[in-house]
Amino acid sequence: MPALHEQLVPVYDEVVARNAGEIEFHQAVKEVLESLGPVVTKHPEYADAEIIRRLCEPERQIIFRVPWTDDAGRVQLNRGFRVEFNSALGPYKGGLRFHPSVYLGIVKFLGFEQIFKNALTGMPIGGGKGGSDFDPKGRSEAEVMRFCQSFMTELYRHLGEHTDVPAGDIGVGSREIGYLFGQYKRITNRYESGVLTGKGITWGGSQVRTEATGYGTVFFVREMLAATGDSFEGKRVVVSGSGNVAIYAIEKVQELGGLVVACSDSSGYVVDEAGIDLDLLKEIKNGRRGRVSDYAAVRGSARFLSSGSIWDVPCDIALPCATQNELMGTGAEALVRSGCTIVAEGANMPTTPDAVRILREAGVRFAPGKAVNAGGVSTSALEMQQNASRDSWTFEHTEARLSDIMTSIHDRCLATADEYDVPGDYVAGANIAGFTQVADAMLALGV
Ligand code: GLU
Repeated sequence: MPALHEQLVPVYDEVVARNAGEIEFHQAVKEVLESLGPVVTKHPEYADAEIIRRLCEPERQIIFRVPWTDDAGRVQLNRGFRVEFNSALGPYKGGLRFHPSVYLGIVKFLGFEQIFKNALTGMPIGGGKGGSDFDPKGRSEAEVMRFCQSFMTELYRHLGEHTDVPAGDIGVGSREIGYLFGQYKRITNRYESGVLTGKGITWGGSQVRTEATGYGTVFFVREMLAATGDSFEGKRVVVSGSGNVAIYAIEKVQELGGLVVACSDSSGYVVDEAGIDLDLLKEIKNGRRGRVSDYAAVRGSARFLSSGSIWDVPCDIALPCATQNELMGTGAEALVRSGCTIVAEGANMPTTPDAVRILREAGVRFAPGKAVNAGGVSTSALEMQQNASRDSWTFEHTEARLSDIMTSIHDRCLATADEYDVPGDYVAGANIAGFTQVADAMLALGV
């Protein structure tokens, strides 16, 4: 890992001082700054305009109270967040996460990543992120609806199809987007489809949006393999998680001829040497909102393990698709030992800095989430395009667009890595390509 360029040390120190205790945000900033040494040397104009310092400070941070009533009639209280990080390239764009771990530091790390990810897509979208510490697990349909309505009752005033366009993330799927959109429409008296993405197909949503992050992840890895004349055919693949990203990554790996032998959730992981039965997994996770242990209970070829780590399962390709910092040093060592050759992040920042270092030192090809998982937000931008033109595209057309976008992001990472003399370095390629695009726009738009 390159050390921080001397000009960037005070920038990083300032981020830590201004955002005390927000360790995930510090981690995300450091990861990007570590790539920017050669950029700082080549482009003194960025330093003159304090572009990097400005980029590290969100344009606007909104924190709000979310009171709601549970089924027993008790008043519950959560905290809501929206960090509008950077709008140099377009309206703020990024998901909402509902999970008990959410606090300002998580939202800022995700919003920061989103700026560069969205730039890499080549679409006109800025970066933002939001969410709440609300835990949807175990809550009834009616409770989730009341929570979403209360959340939007405050958030609506900050949104707009030209201002800020949220979507889903962990804990927020099309059900929640529906309740949020309904409340936005009720309050504003506007059927403003383009204000939220991830909508249902019958009310303004896009084909492929549900599948997009998982499919896009696999399209990116398809290009990594193709770059060395290889393919998914016959590869053993481990996919952590079993949510929306993981399920559709598994689906696409299987379509391209790979064998997915393991997946997981917060209770443990399943190993299925016969290959994950996706219909069964979808039925359990989406239909019943169940656990992966339920999968192993009915599938003879599968074992459920609640101790150890999914990264102990030998594989050629590992796709961490669950959550931040899920793949740590020991996991990386296990992957190296088993001969894994590619790790690509379907989740946002799932690999710790220590694990990234171990993988890269061992020659494992590593690709970061801000490039690999950009298919979700790309398809959100395609949804915005369809909303703006009051059109809806076919599944085939939308998937072909997604596939082309992922190929272009992949090629752009490699071309930028070549340009800055770090051939094959997907981390530097993604960070530098995303950064320079935003930095140039910020320069053009003035202070
Ligand atoms: N939450 C997704 C992400 O991390 C999608 C964001 C969006 O579609 O706006 O990129």
